[in-house]
Amino acid sequence: MFRNFKVVSKVIFGRGSLNQLDDILQPHRTQTGGFMVFLLDDVFENAPLQKRLPLYPNDMLIPVNVHDEPKTSQVDRLRDQVKAFSPNLPDGVIGIGGGSVMDLAKAVSLMLTNPGSSADYQGWDLIRNPAVYHVGIPTLSGTGAEVSRTTVLTGPQKKLGINSDFTVFDQVVLDPELIRDAPKEQRFYTGMDCYIHCVESLEGTYLNMFSQAYGEKAMELCRDVFLKDLPDSDDRLMMASYFGGMSIAYSQVGIAHALSYGLAFMLGIHHGIGNSIVFDQLEEFYPEGVREFRQMMERQGITLPRHIMQPVSADQIERMIDVAMMLDPLWENALGKDWKSIMTRERIRQLYLAM
Ligand code: NAD
Ligand code: ZN
Repeated sequence: MFRNFKVVSKVIFGRGSLNQLDDILQPHRTQTGGFMVFLLDDVFENAPLQKRLPLYPNDMLIPVNVHDEPKTSQVDRLRDQVKAFSPNLPDGVIGIGGGSVMDLAKAVSLMLTNPGSSADYQGWDLIRNPAVYHVGIPTLSGTGAEVSRTTVLTGPQKKLGINSDFTVFDQVVLDPELIRDAPKEQRFYTGMDCYIHCVESLEGTYLNMFSQAYGEKAMELCRDVFLKDLPDSDDRLMMASYFGGMSIAYSQVGIAHALSYGLAFMLGIHHGIGNSIVFDQLEEFYPEGVREFRQMMERQGITLPRHIMQPVSADQIERMIDVAMMLDPLWENALGKDWKSIMTRERIRQLYLAM
């Protein structure tokens, strides 16, 4: 069976394209009593970016904190906050921030029209009703959350996305000026998420020409960004993220992502940095990718955290192995159908202990 997947229907790209947001939202505003919900990464609270948002008197601006990656409980609370604000559904939900805020915007737009808790929908194609119109505006690039059909959430039982066609943004605004002031380390780690998407997609058994075409271009752009000094590196990184996301949309990620999910679930380590910590241990699986990743780290002056497993108990490690091993498609993409004979619990334990 070939996957028949939905893509973002409208994309605007270019420096300063955020200035067109008012025009973009206008046709979606209903005349009476309508309102838009802006979820803004709270690093921008009262910053110039907040002042540039086209807020109307009825609109709701919610600064959101993403110190912890998005949780199902946080999504449910935000949904309740919007429902308490008005008996009507909003005309739209707009997420402005990195992957975390974009994922929150996707999840809230879904949960406004689907009953129950967001934890009920962690999985594949469990959503029944279309979401409220939703828009993603990245302020960090690399995750591909702007193009993906998932919103990654940590729930009571698992870290797993709400994967559905309804999850995909109706509109994204790709304005490279918005990522310009991101802190160097954060920019690097989120950017490495994209680089690792490319390696895992291009080296995977699920590879096909669709994924390869996007993945190769994204990889080339990552090299431009992290191994050269070019004046338009923000533009390049923004497109790398988009293309990397398109590449994995039709293939899958691999070992780094599987192990990184365990780190996130148990230790709360964020996606980009977690992937980087794991990837550095995967030379035997992705030799060229890991070598180039280290060159990028050196050139960008990044030092990875070490010995992160020291405070972790044996029980916790077992739980992390459980979380990682649940991700069948990732392992199968990386190692083939017979992956369980290659990647045993013991081997995963050794990889974790080396971090
Ligand atoms: P993030 O959104 O978690 O943000 C990291 C930090 O950077 C936060 O403190 C945030 O406030 C800050 N920040 C954001 N933009 C900034 C800017 N321009 N200047 C200064 N600070 C800024 O980081 P991320 O790496 O973009 O996203 C990681 C999240 O994305 C994780 O929650 C992960 O699960 C999710 N993710 C989703 C997908 C998907 O397809 N939906 C894919 C990969 C990762
Ligand atoms: Zn990723």
